[in-house]
Amino acid sequence: MRVLVTGGAGYIGSVAVDSLIGAGHDVCVFDNLYMGHREAVNSAAEFVEGDLADRAQINEVMSRFQAEAVMHFASYSLVGESVEEPLKYLGDNVSNAVNLIDAALNAGVQRFILSSTANLFDDPETIPISESEKIVPGSPYGESKNIIERILKWVQETKGLRYAALRYFNAAGCTPIKGEDHTPETHLIPLVLQVALGQREKIMIFGGDYDTPDGTCVRDYIHVEDLAQAHILALEALETNETLRFNLGNGNGFSVKDVIETVREVTGHPIPAEVTDRREGDPAKLVADSSKIRRELGWQPRHTDMKSIIQSAWDWHQAHPEGYGS
Ligand code: UDP
Repeated sequence: MRVLVTGGAGYIGSVAVDSLIGAGHDVCVFDNLYMGHREAVNSAAEFVEGDLADRAQINEVMSRFQAEAVMHFASYSLVGESVEEPLKYLGDNVSNAVNLIDAALNAGVQRFILSSTANLFDDPETIPISESEKIVPGSPYGESKNIIERILKWVQETKGLRYAALRYFNAAGCTPIKGEDHTPETHLIPLVLQVALGQREKIMIFGGDYDTPDGTCVRDYIHVEDLAQAHILALEALETNETLRFNLGNGNGFSVKDVIETVREVTGHPIPAEVTDRREGDPAKLVADSSKIRRELGWQPRHTDMKSIIQSAWDWHQAHPEGYGS
């Protein structure tokens, strides 16, 4: 298929592009390089440096490329920042998605895949969290994805655009050629690896008084390659399904302290750590029940072991200590 990928120069999007190309699809990456890296874009993909705020541009690219499907990765995605700057999320994330969906409809696109988030579930009644859990966004970021999911629901019902909402838990790990390189970096695993690389003195643990076994937040870390594979399966499944909603994780919870301990094991570095205040917008525990996508699409994560996920990230960060600029 001809797939337009927004955010295809970013951490998750660039790996999905590699998987799409590996599966024989034609890809156009549309990315403003605000967070992404030109070097991360597969050379077999067409690249357009573009901004979703520019309606004319996305309409032109969508129709010229004759897209049949869209994968929408491009988004502001930081929980903490969204609490500081809510309108960047509730405004820009939402209006950019509306521009993209509109362009998709204008070009006759049939399938749309949205990167959604576990931050929809701030107050889960049942852990692991299934798709039937009530939606209570934990932050303006989570709310922006909730709004976009709801827009897609209405557009599906009224205009027939088939869509999949993939709620990622914590994307982690690297492939041999694609890694995590954000400026500024705010994510736990790359930050802890920066300590191991000697680029940072210590890791700050955001909150040690959560209602979890060791008092630090528990997350479900899922390898980017497994996330990418879920996108390929969802793309195929939209041939016959009008709406798909899936929670995507490994189903195993790891606390911040568990992650730091695993990095110590993998790198052999002592990783000094210090507990500080909680970060606003962080739920205590997010672990996915992904049995629905396993059952319905046959998705099978390949990287289920935390040590190997961190090893894959460590390999990439050692090879690219300054990120893509190395
Ligand atoms: N975290 C932390 N110290 C850091 C960065 C993150 O303790 O320097 C915690 C954060 O509060 C959360 C977990 O690590 O509980 C994962 O955070 P990350 O930003 O990697 O992903 P998110 O859960 O926001 O998607």
